[in-house]
Amino acid sequence: MYTIAGGVFGVKPLKQKLIIGIGVYETAEVYGMEKLEDNSDCVICLSNKRNTMVMPCKHICLCNECADVLSNNKSDCPICRIRIQEFSIIQGK
Ligand SMILES: [Zn+2]
Ligand SMILES: [Zn+2]
Repeated sequence: MYTIAGGVFGVKPLKQKLIIGIGVYETAEVYGMEKLEDNSDCVICLSNKRNTMVMPCKHICLCNECADVLSNNKSDCPICRIRIQEFSIIQGK
């Protein structure tokens, strides 16, 4: 009796925490996608429009001018810090 009651009680808060954790992740991801599809500014200079995708992580976070600078410096992606291998210019609207 005591053991069953304690077990149920112990599992419930754990499950709740897990669901909250996943919810936060999903919200952050969707928000990020929306921001990228919007005409957001470059994360480096904050003035030009983003039009360059970082490979291999496919983050669209740079303008072509900053991509040019980063390619000379062999930099990491400013979003996920993965080593940039190449840039792909997006032809935007
Ligand atoms: Zn820029
Ligand atoms: Zn990235």
